[in-house]
Amino acid sequence: MAERQAYDAVVIGAGSVGVPAALAMARSGLRTLVVDRFASQGQGSHKAAIGGVRATHSDPAKIRLCLRSLAILSTWRETHGHDIEWTSGGYSFVAYTEREERILKDLLAVQRRYGLNIDWHDPTDLRSIVPDLNPRGLIGGTFSPEDGHCSTLRVGHAFFDAARRAGAEFRFHEPVTGIELQGRRVRAVQTTRGRYETDVVVNAAGPWAREVGEMVGLPHPVTPDAHEAGITEPVAPFLGPMVVDIRPLPGSANYYFYQLATGQVVFCITPSPLVTGFDRRETSEFLPLVARRMVGLMPRLTNLRVRRTWRGLYPMTPDGSPLVGWAREVQGYLMAVGMCGQGLMLGPGLGELLARLVGGAPPSTEDEETLAILSPYRAFQAAEALK
Ligand SMILES: Cc1cc2nc3c(=O)[nH]c(=O)nc-3n(C[C@H](O)[C@H](O)[C@H](O)COP(=O)(O)OP(=O)(O)OC[C@H]3O[C@@H](n4cnc5c(N)ncnc54)[C@H](O)[C@@H]3O)c2cc1C
Repeated sequence: MAERQAYDAVVIGAGSVGVPAALAMARSGLRTLVVDRFASQGQGSHKAAIGGVRATHSDPAKIRLCLRSLAILSTWRETHGHDIEWTSGGYSFVAYTEREERILKDLLAVQRRYGLNIDWHDPTDLRSIVPDLNPRGLIGGTFSPEDGHCSTLRVGHAFFDAARRAGAEFRFHEPVTGIELQGRRVRAVQTTRGRYETDVVVNAAGPWAREVGEMVGLPHPVTPDAHEAGITEPVAPFLGPMVVDIRPLPGSANYYFYQLATGQVVFCITPSPLVTGFDRRETSEFLPLVARRMVGLMPRLTNLRVRRTWRGLYPMTPDGSPLVGWAREVQGYLMAVGMCGQGLMLGPGLGELLARLVGGAPPSTEDEETLAILSPYRAFQAAEALK
């Protein structure tokens, strides 16, 4: 016989967004169930992330959510006890052409207005922060010292542990097969193993968000695109910030890397054109492409040995910003999808926002502004500059 249970909210997806959302909901007293098709938390896109967390964005909604994520993650150990290897190493976006200089300088005003601690530095100053940058042609760059990084696997486990302690329930190996409606209201979530009664469903299904949306007749514009990453052998500390180079070159739009607290350098590239689809098998093109660019930017990396590479999926939206908010067509259906390349850094701040929405508190002016920017019903005209 099908199982019957009543929850205040059922979250579909135990990933970068679903697990922090479950923690925040359970902490605010909501009976919360998370269901995932995989065997444990973080097995979708979450485990592919390299652990970068920044509030350095062009979009005020993302700046605000990520400032909150930074506050949560940088104090996680004191608050919850887990060592997530948090490091406030900062982010540095570098400029070697006037194009990048203009993009980065133009963003400073909005970034500062929303509370980000960020400055522009000339080459000499920048090289005192990132000493190994190639000085040839360097115009300068930004540095935001309060951005940082943490261990992706540790942070996933930490949120999972805290969410369970707070009372959230998790069910794994349970693909969601349907969302049951009564008229235009959410009634229950059906999985391969059970039926869970609830008034609220949160779609936090990452790259699979469209498939879940289709269950209520809303095929969200979220397309998976594949990104590869790699990790080197550990070496003595030499690099503080995440370094981001947004110069487009044939084959790639940008790339970024930093040194983990444990000494390894982790790195990613954004392929150009994008590679869409669900294929998570790594390619032979990635390493030669990214290695050439990294060594050009930082010649000191020349003999660093790569240990392994992997590939994961960005849940991309047409403009590079997430889709967050209640559906107009189906009462009780809440979207938290389309995290693009930033779900890990958005997750903690967004999780709290979702808990406020589900809890029914009157929205603050800040939340209203964030929700207006991230509205799933927006026109998708502008593109996020630092997506
Ligand atoms: C190489 C790479 C590097 C990255 N680096 C960073 C980084 O440094 N910082 C950062 O912030 N982001 C980074 N990202 C992006 C980040 O990984 C994603 O934005 C984030 O993981 C998306 O979170 P999510 O919760 O939306 O999706 P996911 O983490 O994928 O979670 C979705 C979950 O939903 C479940 N699900 C889907 N459909 C169903 C269903 N029908 N039934 C049951 N369960 C279902 C899936 O099994 C999955 O576990 C990186 C991504 C890649 C690929």
